[in-house]
Amino acid sequence: MTFYSNDSRAIKVYDLLHNFFEVVEWGDEKSDLIFEDGLFLFEAKSIKLSTTDHYMLEIYEALNEHFSPISPWGILSGVRPLKLVHQEKEQGISEKAILQGLVQREKITETKAELLLEIANNQEPIYRDQRDHLSLYLSIPFCPTICSYCCFHTRLYEKKLAREYLINLLEDLAEVKKRVKEQGRLIDCIYIGGGTPWILETEEIKKLFLSLQDFKGVKEFTFEGGRMDVLSPEKANLVSSYASRVCLNPQSLTQGITPLLGRPEAKGLEYWISYFKKEGLITSSDLIAGLPGESLEDFLLSLKELIKLNPDNITIHNLSLKRGAQLKELKKSAPVAAMLQEGYGLLKKTGYNPYYIYRQKNMVDRGENVGYEKAGTLGLYNIRMMEDVHEILSIGSNAASKKIRQGKAIRIATPKDIHLYMKDKERRKRLIEEMFV
Ligand code: SF4
Repeated sequence: MTFYSNDSRAIKVYDLLHNFFEVVEWGDEKSDLIFEDGLFLFEAKSIKLSTTDHYMLEIYEALNEHFSPISPWGILSGVRPLKLVHQEKEQGISEKAILQGLVQREKITETKAELLLEIANNQEPIYRDQRDHLSLYLSIPFCPTICSYCCFHTRLYEKKLAREYLINLLEDLAEVKKRVKEQGRLIDCIYIGGGTPWILETEEIKKLFLSLQDFKGVKEFTFEGGRMDVLSPEKANLVSSYASRVCLNPQSLTQGITPLLGRPEAKGLEYWISYFKKEGLITSSDLIAGLPGESLEDFLLSLKELIKLNPDNITIHNLSLKRGAQLKELKKSAPVAAMLQEGYGLLKKTGYNPYYIYRQKNMVDRGENVGYEKAGTLGLYNIRMMEDVHEILSIGSNAASKKIRQGKAIRIATPKDIHLYMKDKERRKRLIEEMFV
């Protein structure tokens, strides 16, 4: 489908169109779908839209008469589907009325509306509390190979570059420490993410950990780690001594799937999950629903296998085809919606509860990413990162910080390009400073 608009609300409508059509491309005045001068035009129809927020619903209803939506998320666009639920809960609106609103006004399916409410209830204590506390994110944008489905801004590991990068990251960290001290702020949550943080050398990881020790009162410290092909006993031992959570991400346990996508099989996953659990860390593992070549049966077998390994958290990602990911040319696998739904059932049956959710642009089948936990092992960072009530200070290249002012989230991003990031020290300093004003 092609879409043309000269309206300032075009982006929102463009996102909504993705809930109906697999492919939507920007076109010209002769496009299949047109939004201009307050009119929505398609298939020789012309619909006059209101100037209020109702225009999204009006477009949805008009399209719904002719096409079946491919997404269960109705008129909802954006990455934070819980926002509305939390707002309504805070206004004292009953759960029944919230559900009704989601289904009737937002056009979300009943199943997804119930999922939202369940997640909002599960994460409520963390969502509500400690809004003055700060979380710190450190970005390690290096990987041993680049997976063809990757939608992150990461790059191939180069020893010299990584070393140089780390020097810059530590400079930023020193600036953060200074500001935190000046303002008497408390950092109680640290997340080292990637990329593949395991790729750093043992000594480099140690240096990073040592420089984080000045933050007193940290109650959650996650080392994302990532894939395990660059994990060694020395690194594992080091991480166990400093971190409280670790992520070991297989993405799929179906034999032969990930090697086709430029990523080795997740060898040693059973060993490492049990190793870190014995060391007292909370373990977390991710799967992706929709990887090319993986059927629904494969996906569910993979999930069952992962459940048997008993990580404390499991996140099911809906494959997302962001711009730049080479996978656009590859064929998608079985319906992702069924993987997500049946996955939910399996996880619930085995004691895992959904506790955070987010959506991305260009998700295959327009589903959602959901994180599950077992036995009260909810991750602070996962919730704070997705809901706009806590502040996150992110350092490194392509790191997005979030500050909250007058109840609104303001995002501050560092340069995506690693060389640009390292070069412009003054800009980096200013960005950190901005977080504290
Ligand atoms: S390991 Fe993760 S971050 Fe690195 S290329 Fe693969 S998907 Fe991307």
